[in-house]
Amino acid sequence: MTARTCAACDCEIDGTAIKVKLGGNTVEVCCEACARALNEAEASISTDAQAGEG
Ligand SMILES: [Zn+2]
Repeated sequence: MTARTCAACDCEIDGTAIKVKLGGNTVEVCCEACARALNEAEASISTDAQAGEG
């Protein structure tokens, strides 16, 4: 059984899923807040290694 779950918060998606493109993949999230969270995570990943951390 494949229940749809939010790619950000991992909760179950009932009914309305929001599709988010990450790189070449499309994932589904439960709400726009989660969509934004994923987009921000993707942005930080796609940049080069964090310079000047710490
Ligand atoms: Zn979510």
